[in-house]
Amino acid sequence: MTKQTHSFQAEVAQLLHLVTHSLYSNPEIFVRELVSNASDAADKLRFEGLNNAALYEDNPNLEVRIAFDKDARTLSITDTGIGLTEQEAIDNLGTIAKSGTKDFMGKLSGDQKADAQLIGQFGVGFYSGFIVADKITVESRRAGVPADQGVRWVSGGTGDFEVETIHRPERGTTITLHLRDDAEEYLNAWKLKSLINKYSDHISLPILMEKEAWKEGENDQPGSMVKTGEWETVNQANALWTRPKKDISEEQYTEFYKAISHDHEAPLTWAHNRVEGNTEYTQLLYIPSKAPFDLWNRDKKAGIKLYVKRVFIMDDAEALMPTYLRFVKGVIDSADLPLNVSRELLQESRDVRAIRDGSTKRVLSMLEDLAKQEDKTPYNQFYAEFGAVLKEGLGEDFANKDRLAKLLRYASTQSDTPSVSLADYKARMKEGQDAIYYITADTLAAAKNSPQLEVFKKKGIEVLLMSDRVDEWSLNYLQEFDGTPLQSVAKGAVDLGKLQDETEKKAAEEAAEAFKPLLAKLKEALKEKAEDVRVTTRLVDSPACLVVQDDGMSTQLARLLKQAGQQAPESKPVLEINAEHALVKKLDGSVHFHDLAHILFDQALLAEGGLPEDPAAYVRRVNALLV
Ligand code: ADP
Repeated sequence: MTKQTHSFQAEVAQLLHLVTHSLYSNPEIFVRELVSNASDAADKLRFEGLNNAALYEDNPNLEVRIAFDKDARTLSITDTGIGLTEQEAIDNLGTIAKSGTKDFMGKLSGDQKADAQLIGQFGVGFYSGFIVADKITVESRRAGVPADQGVRWVSGGTGDFEVETIHRPERGTTITLHLRDDAEEYLNAWKLKSLINKYSDHISLPILMEKEAWKEGENDQPGSMVKTGEWETVNQANALWTRPKKDISEEQYTEFYKAISHDHEAPLTWAHNRVEGNTEYTQLLYIPSKAPFDLWNRDKKAGIKLYVKRVFIMDDAEALMPTYLRFVKGVIDSADLPLNVSRELLQESRDVRAIRDGSTKRVLSMLEDLAKQEDKTPYNQFYAEFGAVLKEGLGEDFANKDRLAKLLRYASTQSDTPSVSLADYKARMKEGQDAIYYITADTLAAAKNSPQLEVFKKKGIEVLLMSDRVDEWSLNYLQEFDGTPLQSVAKGAVDLGKLQDETEKKAAEEAAEAFKPLLAKLKEALKEKAEDVRVTTRLVDSPACLVVQDDGMSTQLARLLKQAGQQAPESKPVLEINAEHALVKKLDGSVHFHDLAHILFDQALLAEGGLPEDPAAYVRRVNALLV
């Protein structure tokens, strides 16, 4: 086919622009990205070769060769992997197939530093070559395709790329970077070896470079090395997780994490174990220090790579980790699964279930270890990033619920940051207190200022403040902790039980009696809005608040469901009034009774972060009174 010019997908062009305009603070990562692609290509060939040995026949060697040419200012990376057909080159090197690309682009803010971080997370892969090159040539032939159907892809990294058919005797791919003037340092064997050592030592594929020697009689003269035509392997060429722990440095663990996760920050912690017994496998699991930009997408695939006896099987093996641990990255290498295992088979395999249970427990113990540390910073950092996701586990992972409950942290009336564990709370409970009190709201500020807390504050009783969207839902699965029930302060009649003294109880009963006629009038006036109206002891400074029946759905959850376009059961809240409040006392006999009743109700709604059903009517009523 003659040369054809194609345009990059708009997102690629945009990404390339960012990449080449110095967003990248760490240009050398292109080595990691391109070697990692070469290694993936070898993995794919090995995998396809399981069912089709003919693919390999011409050359059974799987390897990567890195070469450079000082005069031509080029650096090339050649692999004997699966290769690309012409159509694959057009599709894979001109578009970004990753889901969430558009979302991701929308998140870029224009702030270089923040964007560089995001791009780091997203992973620019192949395009990272353009950090150091102003032109990239890719020549490739796919395994199993005739030699006259090779492809050449060339681009300057701006709007478009050219593709033509070429004759290529050898299988696999050569990526040639035409280096920019300021990237000359990569035309140096020593430099390249040190980068391979740093970024790609863990790759199980041999990486070869041509040996150099001093020119005759010119020892130690700079620039007088010559190539010898002999190639040597410059990496360890065995997969990192297969090596004994004691032979792996922290830096190697960290670099391996960065290579598999595309994150450019170091992980918070990791665990590397060989598990023996009924099912044998090796696990190397990492907890990132920063949440990815799409953590909230529950469809996001888990970050676990599955290998079987060191053969790469698949990325994102979601069957190996529960959804609530989707932030965990790493590798699981099984000794028992069949090599031809598919995603569908994974779902049903008993071995997989055992691996998943074992890995889940491993992650939980990593978190427990972090939480136990004297220095709480790492755990708090973890929790700030992933705590809300962890809470999903309460409903998802019944078997580990007790362990999970111990890992939860909340803000409370005694702590503005989510650092209070349920055990801490219990240890601080007052004499006679028989429940763990909490309140949920849309924001921490709304929770903290909610009128329902008034009596608790007055009595010095701590209340957990919950403002994560998942809190309401997850609490359905956490009715008690260590024998003590959890009780919402905004649900049901408040019963402080032994925390209330006799005189307080008596006063409350008397008030309820005395207010009966007023309550009846209020109930009539608000019958469209409130299920009931009653006198409460939970308020100190506020005139009124809303609560839901004991078995009702909280108003916050109902609101969330409606926002999400879902059906929330229509349940009306209960209006509770403070018999001691001046406004309430004035209510009876007021000529504005009807308006005041509605204002009382709407204000109670506002106080908990809701909006009056008819905001204009609310404003009209308040204004009428002000005038
Ligand atoms: P990613 O590797 O995350 O999918 P890249 O931008 O690095 O994204 O690569 C895009 C695609 O190009 C790869 O998914 C792969 O299909 C193809 N590709 C890149 N490098 C090679 C290679 N050396 N051999 C075969 N295919 C490759």
